[in-house]
Amino acid sequence: MRTVLDARTSSGYGSRSRGGIHAILDVETALAAADTAARLRDRVGAGEKLSGPAARRALTAAVQAPRFEGRIVPRNFAKKASAFLARDGIVLYDNHDAYLICAFKHDTALCKPEEGARAPRQYDCRPGCGNTVRTDTHARLLRERADELEQLAAHAPGPVGKRLHANANRLRETADTHDATAHQAEALT
Ligand code: SF4
Repeated sequence: MRTVLDARTSSGYGSRSRGGIHAILDVETALAAADTAARLRDRVGAGEKLSGPAARRALTAAVQAPRFEGRIVPRNFAKKASAFLARDGIVLYDNHDAYLICAFKHDTALCKPEEGARAPRQYDCRPGCGNTVRTDTHARLLRERADELEQLAAHAPGPVGKRLHANANRLRETADTHDATAHQAEALT
């Protein structure tokens, strides 16, 4: 919904003000970004390594992200959320389906967000994007998903099984690339 509303606003279809549904979505998006930042801090704190072209930027973003103790959101937070989301390059989006964190920077986004969009088009995430960050947890989840696909492939008819097997290989290669290129946070700062 964040992406759809950004597109409608930037194309002149909707209001350019950030009241109403935009304000609510800004708050929800900022809260989700804060959660993603907190998870990244936790993983780094637990010794996980980071890979991806945006790893260094994501670390900075994780430190700068707003924190919410007990999920209490102050009354004036909508404005702050809007200002935070406008800081291109430091808002972290958890892209669960692509097994990565997106440190969204508009000009380098391969998913081609609308002009002025504040969020990536995560459903169209493209390999090789400069906004990508992965942790050791992502690599583990990629391998777990690859194992699931192999199990499905074993019981699937020929072409479907081959496609599942190829997808499993692609996920393992992504995990291997993480292992081969990842660094501890200290080496990135
Ligand atoms: S292509 Fe993926 S990583 Fe790149 S900006 Fe879009 S969602 Fe983020």
